[in-house]
Amino acid sequence: MPKAIHSIWWDDNLGPSVGRSYPETDNLTSEEALIIFMGHGVNREAEIGYSKLPRGLFISYMKPPNCIAIHLKEDENPTIIERNVLRLVKYIDFNSDTWDAELQRAFELLNELIDETSGAELLTNPGVKKLVEDFAKKRMTSIKPKHVLRASVRYPEAYDYFGTDDAEVVRLLKDLEDENLLESRTYGRRIECRQCGASDLTVELLCPKCDSNDIHKVYTLFCPKCSNQFHAVMMDDIAEVVCQHCKEPIKVGELSIIDVEPLCNQCGTASNDPRIVFRCASCGKYLRGADLLAGTGLAYYPKK
Ligand SMILES: [Zn+2]
Ligand SMILES: [Zn+2]
Ligand SMILES: [Zn+2]
Repeated sequence: MPKAIHSIWWDDNLGPSVGRSYPETDNLTSEEALIIFMGHGVNREAEIGYSKLPRGLFISYMKPPNCIAIHLKEDENPTIIERNVLRLVKYIDFNSDTWDAELQRAFELLNELIDETSGAELLTNPGVKKLVEDFAKKRMTSIKPKHVLRASVRYPEAYDYFGTDDAEVVRLLKDLEDENLLESRTYGRRIECRQCGASDLTVELLCPKCDSNDIHKVYTLFCPKCSNQFHAVMMDDIAEVVCQHCKEPIKVGELSIIDVEPLCNQCGTASNDPRIVFRCASCGKYLRGADLLAGTGLAYYPKK
């Protein structure tokens, strides 16, 4: 259970300023608020921020112009807290008039989410139960990823009105157009497969010399245990790599990747500039420039 939750507010004259805290005994200083806020980049582009302050680690979430920050206990796993902060934020009303109550509610909910998604509680989830059973009975052997780039359309300007569920925002805008409150007009281009109309892509890397897709990746990695950098070739199906410096095993899900250099298994070419090929994630069509920009973007205006 984290120590506290804080809000940091953007003020047009003062910049980032200390908002509320829960529990109220654990307030931020304005210096701390500034450091946490700036951890999201000058343009507030990063959604999640990590700030290591003298009194501990803070994980923050930016929803411009405001930000919330969670103060972690020493032994807490930051990746678990980050996942649950991302679960939490859709339940926070960032425009609340009663921030004291809102923050208290958020803090309690965060703790519930952390409980629900760990230990014995996690195993009471019916989906989890079924998965464990299916693994045991070999009905399922692994869960493999499909790397899809989601070229989704978003309308951030509508979030204050309709919430942040992008697909629902698009549906509502279409509803409003059908009800003659809004009209849509062309705006830019969007990615759309000309064969099937889908907007999801997969990316393939090919050797720039021989076009083979049999490519190894040589990673430059950061060891969280000894803070040194080391190189490793990562094949599929490994769970841990061993740091060359401190010889400690590190879970692959916890690695920080600093650089990757692809190495072709067919012709031995190492290149930082492999050929990049996009395919439609739905029908597999090889997408060329015209496909990538085939769709028409839509902007919405009040209906005259
Ligand atoms: Zn397609
Ligand atoms: Zn190490
Ligand atoms: Zn090659």
